[in-house]
Amino acid sequence: MRKDSPETFKELLQNVQNIAIITHWNPDGDAIGSSLGLFHYLKKLDKNASVIVPNSYPEFLQWLPNTHEIVNFQNHEEKASEILTKADVIFTLDFNSYKRLEKLGDILENAKVPKVLIDHHQQPDDYPTYYFHDVEACSTCELVFDFIEGLGDKELIDKKIAACLYTGLMTDTGSFRYPNVNYRTHFIVSELLKTNIKPSDIHSAVYDNYSLKRLKLLGYTLSKKLKIINGYPVAYFTLSEEELQRFDYQKGDTEGIVNYPFSIKGIKVCALFNESEGIIKISFRSKGTIDVNTFARTYFNGGGHINAAGGKSTDTLAQTEAKFVELIKTLF
Ligand code: 5GP
Ligand code: MN
Repeated sequence: MRKDSPETFKELLQNVQNIAIITHWNPDGDAIGSSLGLFHYLKKLDKNASVIVPNSYPEFLQWLPNTHEIVNFQNHEEKASEILTKADVIFTLDFNSYKRLEKLGDILENAKVPKVLIDHHQQPDDYPTYYFHDVEACSTCELVFDFIEGLGDKELIDKKIAACLYTGLMTDTGSFRYPNVNYRTHFIVSELLKTNIKPSDIHSAVYDNYSLKRLKLLGYTLSKKLKIINGYPVAYFTLSEEELQRFDYQKGDTEGIVNYPFSIKGIKVCALFNESEGIIKISFRSKGTIDVNTFARTYFNGGGHINAAGGKSTDTLAQTEAKFVELIKTLF
């Protein structure tokens, strides 16, 4: 953990005008929520802030305030590059390695301005100039709240900022039920609720937004694709490109599926293998002291947190599955 002092950031913000905020590839609720939460805060400080994403975010986040201002690097490379060229400082949120940005990572690496990391993932790289990093935080949205509070600006948190931050807190904690939830999580929620945001509306906007095909994909995956490794508390699913296409797969459609096997008594590790354009994207989840962050880093070119990590593989789906089945046994 390294958190630079509020004075450092105060001074930094006093001396900059153009601020770029970047979050990770395949942005999730915490990535978009924290980026837009910070964006709205910086706007209140009269800064010229912009949010850049490496690729598109899921449709269920579209309702968040000012998503129309987010610049998608994949579709608007020139605009994104221009923002980065003009930026006096770049904030990088909810990731800690250039690897998590794909092609956008090269541009960030070449940018010579100060970089500020706000993140809760383990083992950050050493690219940032300033850090606001804490693996104990349940989400990057918690850290954005801490950041604003640390600068003495809690009173500036309005409904827009609160809606963004609540979304990340909610999605990264599995609706406030994962072990990363503590008194601080609920304290922040209670502070955000003072702005009169409606948790049930936000929950509905994010979770009651499935297409029929998405629900059928979930049903198919649970009924036909669940595998349990014989003699081990490990359950996983594989989904080929063909299977996903059958259900008209849209980004975000498999989010959350990986967790379902935990409802089976005794299961301690879950994984989901998703094939897309020849690359296998993997989600790992674990309980207790089983460290899937190290597992994902060591064997699957990924990382994350001790109990929730991701990775990828360029082997075939079958090869990736076989590799996983052998290696995961070494954790027990
Ligand atoms: P998910 O399985 O939901 O995609 O990701 C779980 C956690 O692991 C998230 O905190 C996410 O940021 C992180 N993560 C997912 N994929 C990768 C990856 O390829 N590399 C790294 N370093 N972290 C990842
Ligand atoms: Mn996060």
